[in-house]
Amino acid sequence: MRELCQEPLARHGYWRVGGPLERLVFVDTAADLVALSGVDHVLGNGSNLLVPDEGLCGTTVKLGGQLRGLVVHEGADGAARVSAGAGLQNAVLLQRLDKLGIGGLGCLAGVPGTVGGAVAMNAGTALGEIGERLLSVSGLDGRVIARAELPMEYRSGGLPPGFVVTSAVFSVDREGVAKERSRIAEHLARRKATQPLDLPSCGSVFRNPPGDHAGRLIEAAGLKGWSSGNARISDRHANFIVNCGGARAIDVMRCIRTAWERVYATSGFCLIPEVHVLGDWDRELWPLPAVGNPGTLR
Ligand SMILES: Cc1cc2nc3c(=O)[nH]c(=O)nc-3n(C[C@H](O)[C@H](O)[C@H](O)COP(=O)(O)OP(=O)(O)OC[C@H]3O[C@@H](n4cnc5c(N)ncnc54)[C@H](O)[C@@H]3O)c2cc1C
Repeated sequence: MRELCQEPLARHGYWRVGGPLERLVFVDTAADLVALSGVDHVLGNGSNLLVPDEGLCGTTVKLGGQLRGLVVHEGADGAARVSAGAGLQNAVLLQRLDKLGIGGLGCLAGVPGTVGGAVAMNAGTALGEIGERLLSVSGLDGRVIARAELPMEYRSGGLPPGFVVTSAVFSVDREGVAKERSRIAEHLARRKATQPLDLPSCGSVFRNPPGDHAGRLIEAAGLKGWSSGNARISDRHANFIVNCGGARAIDVMRCIRTAWERVYATSGFCLIPEVHVLGDWDRELWPLPAVGNPGTLR
């Protein structure tokens, strides 16, 4: 177990913004995790997290070592299953399954997080959501929760509060990887053509409301290219906020707040953030106003 004090999230997160984590502990085994007197936050790959420039109090853990393992086995019904450590990166998971000729988790292609983060967020793409393949999750507290008991929904894993995922079991396909490969390749090419992947971001900032796209609503509100400091609402895809170099977390937050307010004012939609925001913020900026029915028209 290794730990760093006052370690900036900006060094670990995809947005390259965010102040010091009071205590960041790298844990390699479930026993390490249990030995910690308390876990306040979990950092996956930091591809969907925002903390203030002032930092975040408490103990944050990052899972590595044995918590990045991968085991393929047969279930009692003879179907193939994969048990993956929560700290395993999605890209590594997919590469290793591809080498074994195993398909089924292609919905994680291009999602730059960990297995734990994917379950916590019910990550997904045009190829599906991870919740469709999840069978169960194991937690730091020793609980094993079956998929049927998790109230998963679009971009929400429905985990109990404070639940730290240590591993997850998924159903996979021993055959069909070749077909999945071509769907993944097409999907990645489409993303490359439409998303600003050359600049640091956290992917889509808001969930898409039913029957519409957050990016379309933000663009219709005239905000493509709107910026605060060095954070900008992307000209390429308005649901992405990009760090043009040296942005601060407060700049990103101002973009989020402005997008939310202008979309509400122009179209009446209450956008729901997809990004997880932690820590204490200026109340004028965060949390977003609780008005109307989230995700729908006012
Ligand atoms: C370029 C880009 C493209 C993206 N495209 C997509 C996409 O297509 N689809 C999509 O769904 N997302 C996408 N994302 C967002 C992001 O990658 C996903 O939400 C991802 O699942 C987050 O995983 P993470 O490991 O980085 O989690 P983090 O960002 O580190 O954390 C996110 C949340 O998950 C929690 N968490 C992480 N690990 C655990 C654990 N072990 N136990 C309990 N809670 C945990 C954290 O505490 C936090 O609340 C994109 C991001 C980027 C930067």
